[in-house]
Amino acid sequence: MADSVNPSHALFDSFVQAQTCKETQQNFIELCRHLKVEPRDYKHFYSKLKDRLNYWKAKDLWQKIDKRAAHPDYEQGQACHQNKCLVLGAGPCGLRTAIELALLGTQVAVLDKRVSFSRNNVLHLWPYTIRDLLNLGAKKFYGRFCSGSIHHISIRQLQLILLKVALILGVEVHTGVTFEGLLEPSGSTGWRAQVSPGSHRAAAFEFDVFISAGGGRYVPDGFKIKELRGKLAIGITANFVNRRTKQEAQVQEISGVARIYNQKFFQALHSEIGVDLENIVYYKDDTHYFVMTAKKGSLLKKGVIKQDFPDVNQLLAPANVNQKALEEYAYDAADFSTDHMLPDLEFARDHAGRPDVAMFDFTCMHRAENASLVKERKGKRLLIALVGDSLVEPFWPLGTGIARGFLAAFDTAWMVRNWGKGGLPLELLAERESMYQLLSQTTPENISKNYASYSINPSTRYPNISMSSIKPTQVIHTVLDAHLHTQSLRRLEDLLSWCQKNTAGYKHVKVKDLSESWRSGMALCALIHNFRPELINLSSLDEYNITRNNKLAFDLMEREFGITPVMRASEMITCEKIDQLSMVVYLTQIRNALTEKDT
Ligand code: FAD
Repeated sequence: MADSVNPSHALFDSFVQAQTCKETQQNFIELCRHLKVEPRDYKHFYSKLKDRLNYWKAKDLWQKIDKRAAHPDYEQGQACHQNKCLVLGAGPCGLRTAIELALLGTQVAVLDKRVSFSRNNVLHLWPYTIRDLLNLGAKKFYGRFCSGSIHHISIRQLQLILLKVALILGVEVHTGVTFEGLLEPSGSTGWRAQVSPGSHRAAAFEFDVFISAGGGRYVPDGFKIKELRGKLAIGITANFVNRRTKQEAQVQEISGVARIYNQKFFQALHSEIGVDLENIVYYKDDTHYFVMTAKKGSLLKKGVIKQDFPDVNQLLAPANVNQKALEEYAYDAADFSTDHMLPDLEFARDHAGRPDVAMFDFTCMHRAENASLVKERKGKRLLIALVGDSLVEPFWPLGTGIARGFLAAFDTAWMVRNWGKGGLPLELLAERESMYQLLSQTTPENISKNYASYSINPSTRYPNISMSSIKPTQVIHTVLDAHLHTQSLRRLEDLLSWCQKNTAGYKHVKVKDLSESWRSGMALCALIHNFRPELINLSSLDEYNITRNNKLAFDLMEREFGITPVMRASEMITCEKIDQLSMVVYLTQIRNALTEKDT
């Protein structure tokens, strides 16, 4: 029987070849429906899919995935089988992390606010990332993968490959869903995300690991960012249609010419067409992609930037940029640097259908001070980790985004593995920081060349790594807040239950909290009576005489125990809300005094 006749084979082919995010998701759903496999059954999903799709074209993909999954680090998907992870961002680094976590046995959900993968821009790949992607079946999903002289891939193609692998491994990927913030546990529920649309089922997903891979400048609460400010650097990216003609095929790529290495070229570019650059890169991929760093003077002269401002945000604000002049500038640079050999240069279109040319500020790069932290609320711990551009913003012309992004994805997966195995927070955070310190120094030359042995274990990738260069005491601040908070919450709960116990059964007294329950003064009087009945005649009290009740209690506490009142008795009527903090301080002193007397 011809393969095309078998509907599941045809659906698998469509899934593998899908060229958009939407098409990929739709074909995947169809394939699952047809094979009667339920993606939500994430633990058995991959094996069921493999068993039910008996198709020779899928076999080499299964082999690759099986080989990866058999690595001892994953403990046959048992290492993190009790963990649940939310990944914010279906960019390359979020998806790459999701794949590793799924292999560890974690239940993974990925959220992305975008509904399409539309970035034509091209990423430079280090040799290890090529091996890594080939091992995940990149060639199967994208036949042209790394077939040129320089190794690179467009962001959208990379996302498509990783999305397909993630889906096959049972990762839930929700597009068109915006992450708005973390929701703390509320008794019966665990950590969740506030999302929009709020009715999306991702809102109900509870997790104990949160990976923030939301891209540059997206940093969740609790992390501090360092700003690395360099000299003014203005980047321009431009994409032109690649018609894949013979003539286009012959044009040489430019792997990155910096001014210092080719003075003549840059001088000619400047004197002949007025384009003054620091460097330029040209990759022939799905598009003809150019990225360059331009000098401000020439941008002003060419009318690309309308007015000079010392502040870079003002300088590059859309209102200060002449889009047509920018297109001309990028066009001229592309045409000149390829020796006018690219025929009929025509801009590719961006997600909004406009010519795909953009100008960016590289003057100031962000980097998170810590790579991860642990929060604890209501006894529920949450491990939060940053990966990708959200951890360290790359300098695009150097193309470090994916190479270092994937290293951080693996390091993070290693930390999650330790988390799943019950590692102590301080120790695993310290180990993660030890690796993070290395990240910005990594180059294709100084990481291990034994790519075949790469795994999530950092020692397979970083030669001579010390996994304990940062000591647990140095990362206390990444858990300290949570501990303090937990401790103080616990203290509050203890205080409340002590008050409840010692006022139980008193008339007109119901202590529910450490604020409003104390307004009438009856609870304070009851508390005193419980320990020193001789001091107070409860039958003389009127629950509505708030000032008198409070005055009596305040005076007694001051006279007998030297405890100064937190407010005036009359304010207990007039104030809009009883201040919990003041009340806690006051009641704590009372408890100390009464229990001291008591024992
Ligand atoms: P990204 O790829 O930025 O992905 C982050 C994802 O998170 C996005 O899909 C975004 O929609 C999603 N997201 C963000 N906030 C939310 C939220 N609140 N809720 C839900 N989803 C959210 N690098 C180069 O080397 N060369 C280039 O030319 C180049 N061009 C780029 C152009 C653009 C417009 C951008 C944004 C980045 C570019 N980069 C480039 C950087 C490169 O794309 C990244 O290094 C690489 O994609 C890895 O990034 P990432 O996965 O960490 O984040």
